[in-house]
Amino acid sequence: MSNRKRKKNSKPQREYEAKTRKCLMCRDEFTSRHPGERICASCKGTAAWREGMAL
Ligand SMILES: [Zn+2]
Repeated sequence: MSNRKRKKNSKPQREYEAKTRKCLMCRDEFTSRHPGERICASCKGTAAWREGMAL
């Protein structure tokens, strides 16, 4: 079974697929466009999360 056909991908593998994740702040679901994006735009907009994470 090593002859499996690969799907044709026009995008490079490195490209991150947008996923739906849960925001670490409000636990609401949002679309994450980057691997490091774990906070929704609303919470990011407040900029208060930075101080909150510093503890
Ligand atoms: Zn949020």
